[in-house]
Amino acid sequence: MTESDYRCPSCGAPLSIKFRYSKLINCQHCNSDVILEDEALKLRGKSSVMAEYPSLLQLGLPFVHKKAEYYPVGRVRYQYSHGYWDEWWVLDNKGEGAWLSVDEGDMALEQAIELKQPILFPELKLGQHIEIDGTHWLITEHDTAECIGLEGELPELIQVGEQMSYAHLSASKNRLLTLEMTTRGLLAYEGQWLDPFEISMEQGAQT
Ligand SMILES: [Zn+2]
Repeated sequence: MTESDYRCPSCGAPLSIKFRYSKLINCQHCNSDVILEDEALKLRGKSSVMAEYPSLLQLGLPFVHKKAEYYPVGRVRYQYSHGYWDEWWVLDNKGEGAWLSVDEGDMALEQAIELKQPILFPELKLGQHIEIDGTHWLITEHDTAECIGLEGELPELIQVGEQMSYAHLSASKNRLLTLEMTTRGLLAYEGQWLDPFEISMEQGAQT
């Protein structure tokens, strides 16, 4: 599969697909959302254009964190009670994906995980201590959010207007667990908070 194999079913522009497990591609040319299923493309409609704010990260512009290189290929924006945050879908140099969430100065890098034990999400409360899969977690944030924009290619069929409830949980050693109750079920992601000052753009790239 090469980049030129796919063209937008709406406008015919080439769709550059970097991640082999991508399920959704937002055409940069006409803003159509294109679903990739069994190597066939289906048009889902158009997303509204995402407002651009100054951002260190840019689609297609690699960055380095602790000597590891990441390549942002997609972005989802969520609105919540304190404003908005962006979830960047980034690939590492092995082609594995991770979510980098950026909420003003707060950055966290997380990967999807499968929880071994069932979670009753509606019963979770802010400030609650909870044992999950042998780790002691504290619920530090509990809120609802709505997807208000997306661009690039994504590993999940996220839709603008989609609502979710989520919780951030913290554990020792800077560990972070995010639980999202979405229309696609309960999703779990684990990772760490990052120090934004440890992120640098690739040598030679414009900053
Ligand atoms: Zn298009």
